[in-house]
Amino acid sequence: MPSVTREEIERLDDKDPLGSARDLFHLPEGLIYLDGNSLGPPPKAAFAEIEKAMHTEWAEDLITSWNKAGWFMLTDTLGAKVAGIVGADDDELVVCDSTSVNIYKSLQAALSLRPDRKTIVTEAGSFPTDLYMVDGLRNFAPDIDVRLEGVDAPNLEDLIDDTTAVVLANQVNYRSGELRDVGALTARAHDAGALIVWDLCHSAGVMPVDLNQHGADFAVGCTYKYLNGGPGAPAFVFAARRHHEKLRQPLSGWWGHRQPFAFDVAYEADPGVRKFLCGTQPILSMRALKAGLDVFEQFEISAIRQKSMALTDLFIALVEEHCTEYGLELASPSDATLRGSQVAFRHAEGYAIMQALIERKLIGDFRMPDILRFGFAPLYIRYIDVWNAVEIMRDVLASSAWREERFAVRAAVT
Ligand SMILES: *Cc1c(COP(=O)(O)O)cnc(C)c1O
Repeated sequence: MPSVTREEIERLDDKDPLGSARDLFHLPEGLIYLDGNSLGPPPKAAFAEIEKAMHTEWAEDLITSWNKAGWFMLTDTLGAKVAGIVGADDDELVVCDSTSVNIYKSLQAALSLRPDRKTIVTEAGSFPTDLYMVDGLRNFAPDIDVRLEGVDAPNLEDLIDDTTAVVLANQVNYRSGELRDVGALTARAHDAGALIVWDLCHSAGVMPVDLNQHGADFAVGCTYKYLNGGPGAPAFVFAARRHHEKLRQPLSGWWGHRQPFAFDVAYEADPGVRKFLCGTQPILSMRALKAGLDVFEQFEISAIRQKSMALTDLFIALVEEHCTEYGLELASPSDATLRGSQVAFRHAEGYAIMQALIERKLIGDFRMPDILRFGFAPLYIRYIDVWNAVEIMRDVLASSAWREERFAVRAAVT
């Protein structure tokens, strides 16, 4: 006996308070897209934004658009929109550069506020760019010591002591979806006199973050995942207001100058969060991002989290009911309150299985060495999509369709 019927699932969609949001996105016909945690789909409004930015602002108004169309301040106007989504004040967050670059700037900013401390604590299981940026930083500051969760101790908390300058932590683990307690870890860092940088790549837009409620110091994150800003859309960086005056960051480009158009010989940093800016930003990308962020003005982030937990719970229950005999093993926390908006399953042949699913129009992704990863973006994923996704998975696994040789051939981007 199935634990839930297709009719019951359809009723969940009928009474979904976020049901109308899906229509705001362009989604290809017949595709189940469980990869919005890597690249969100385009909001329909983004097409018009780009058209206007190209045809009117760039083509007709040319350089006057820096003022007239607000190009120069998009870092701040979009920053204020992201601030609303992650629980920060409008003047504490700017949109700029990439997450990788913002990790570097915010780690250096934190180090500048703790000059007597030399340790960075972070996670070996982090998305690699976070680790690579720490590594690069240390190449130019050989006295910095790095301690890694998963190498130097099993838990991040145990590595934090009175030598720690800064902790760099992901709210949601990119592989397993495991969720950290932002409040508890921030408090732990502060108790030791350390600062904390939160990487929100897999949480911004899909759950409450409440940066200020938890007293976070710094945060960074992508906008092309759950915020649907488009491929390569610029990232964001948050710094709590109490740090603005003292902090310094190393990429002191002219956009972060107190008066960029004074063209002074000497650099003098902006007194606020704009000191995190470096140089000219990708305006066309930012215009698409605006459409992505505007969607969030219509929906409560708490409602998004509620549906996210319901979708991932349903997915796990259905996979466990229909697919586990084929060797899938849950690699995410089974308790929704400890999980982000993605579900990971382990399978030794995960890569080939994912390629076979993609051919059947179910898009998830594969993460080395054996993780099949499925992201659930509550704004456009329906309960029925979860049901249909599990049917496709069962078919592919039961028929062993994935064993065809072509599915084992690796592409550059997995
Ligand atoms: C996606 C992701 C990034 C991506 O960084 P880019 O600089 O945008 O390429 C960084 N960190 C984490 C945790 C991510 O999930």
